Amino acid sequence: MAELRKLRMGLVGGGPGAFIGPVHRIAAELDGRIEMVAGAFSQSPERSRAAGKAFRIDPERAYAGYEEMLAAEKMRPDAIDFVVIATPNFLHLPVARAALESGFAVVSDKPATATYDEVLELEKVVAGAGLPYALTHTYAGYSLVREARAICASAELGKIRKIAVEYLQGWLSHPIENTGQKQAEWRSDPKRNGPGGCIGDIGTHAFHLVEYVTGLEVTSMNAALRSVVPGRPLDDDCSALLRLNNGASGVLMASQIAAGEGNGLRIRVYGEDASLDWKQEDPNRLRIKRVDGPEEIRHASGGYLSADARAVTRLPGGHPEGYLEAFAVLYREFADAFEAWRADKSSKLPPTLPGIKAGVRGMRFIERAIESSKDENWVQF
Ligand code: NAD
Repeated sequence: MAELRKLRMGLVGGGPGAFIGPVHRIAAELDGRIEMVAGAFSQSPERSRAAGKAFRIDPERAYAGYEEMLAAEKMRPDAIDFVVIATPNFLHLPVARAALESGFAVVSDKPATATYDEVLELEKVVAGAGLPYALTHTYAGYSLVREARAICASAELGKIRKIAVEYLQGWLSHPIENTGQKQAEWRSDPKRNGPGGCIGDIGTHAFHLVEYVTGLEVTSMNAALRSVVPGRPLDDDCSALLRLNNGASGVLMASQIAAGEGNGLRIRVYGEDASLDWKQEDPNRLRIKRVDGPEEIRHASGGYLSADARAVTRLPGGHPEGYLEAFAVLYREFADAFEAWRADKSSKLPPTLPGIKAGVRGMRFIERAIESSKDENWVQF
């Protein structure tokens, strides 16, 4: 029988003041399947040690750098099983490659890499390593996103004809990167972020949601990227028209200068007979509207939801679940996938958990959007 124990995780990033690293730690541990035991939390050894102390891990396992972590963990009988990458984008490829080549599975935050060329390289490394590689497109973990996906796969909406996706944030409305704001600072630096600003940071989530929910593929796009805040070298506002492989059309809006918006991700899918509407800031309600019929609101954890939606709900109706729980769904699926892989090395990630294929699609989307915007024309995928 396979060994039944918690999987051991090593986190890269997530040092003092970081946004998403600590979220990964909470989400990974939520279901009691995974324990964070090691990390290289910062590029500064002192800050990495300080973070290790705050996380209450063995001080020996708060490493000065990810290379040191991989080398030391390889030698331990209780070594980590996988590495989580929650650093600025330019480190995603080198850390993933080093981890996979050291025999560790990877959970990476998005975008998969900083550039499209890099993701093609990573795709080869993942294939060569034969180890699980998951990408945390967080919104794929929401129960009602799974419901929306099941609805699109059924005949309920009729043929899908139109998609409207928007991801609106306002936190970069002013040049806060010049004030030393940590998250804004590296995101405004093409060397550490990659060439796609807002389009890479949140446009990729919107794009992923379109393909994840509808099961369709974007085949061409006409995108306009702008840097609205003076002096900002990367785009902070994006609009794109999409065509999909069933003939549907789509509109994608992503902006980080949408003053007053928080994390306004919303997707609407219109079929011949009905449509659906899901908003990240109200994630426990999914609206279905019909050409001729009353509007319906489905609630997360409703017993009437699809099996896929029910499978990722933890609490009875009326007890709101949100961002951390959605993130934890991805970790629970990763833990299942890792254990399946440990028992049978040919086993793959489940289709509900984004992996390297989603990573390549996301990087292609950024690259195509930049090209389209430069040429002011449609581009093929
Ligand atoms: P952040 O600046 O808050 O945190 C980055 C962390 O990486 C910091 O602690 C920094 O010290 C650390 N770091 C930098 N270089 C390092 C190195 N060489 N070794 C170890 N640690 C190092 O950034 P963030 O907002 O948390 O974003 C991190 C990543 O997560 C980005 O790729 C971003 O796109 C992604 N992200 C994803 C989501 C999501 O919803 N899935 C949300 C936010 C951010």
